[in-house]
Amino acid sequence: MVHDQRALPELTDLTAAHWTSGASGRLSVRRCVHCLRWSFPPSRCCRHCWSADFTVEPVTGKGVLLTWTEVNDPSGYLVAVVELEEGIRLLLGLTGTEPSALRVDTPIRLYFEHLGGDFWLPFAEIEELELPEDRLEAVS
Ligand SMILES: [Zn+2]
Repeated sequence: MVHDQRALPELTDLTAAHWTSGASGRLSVRRCVHCLRWSFPPSRCCRHCWSADFTVEPVTGKGVLLTWTEVNDPSGYLVAVVELEEGIRLLLGLTGTEPSALRVDTPIRLYFEHLGGDFWLPFAEIEELELPEDRLEAVS
């Protein structure tokens, strides 16, 4: 399937949650029912206990930046590896920032771009940390 210039993935029981859960605003990931570990990339059997029983649960969508690169393309977009609070690592687009502003462990959060139909593509953006107002006064 092709959407604009992008080829869209085939939805399967293993991949559907990744590509469609953005409709809810949160990424959902397979999780082993027996040992409660996350299964990403998704697999038929748990990599830790070999169980084939999974559920699909939303993750926080918050994490940190592990590494990144600027793609040598006229648009110069950024691709990053992020690690979510759940320990899940994702390779995805990073938007709204400049490479010079990035540091390892910079907090990120996920957001989604609707590609049409059931498809939502996850992206990462820098998490703007909000300081409590009393803390802002102490800083100034
Ligand atoms: Zn397991």
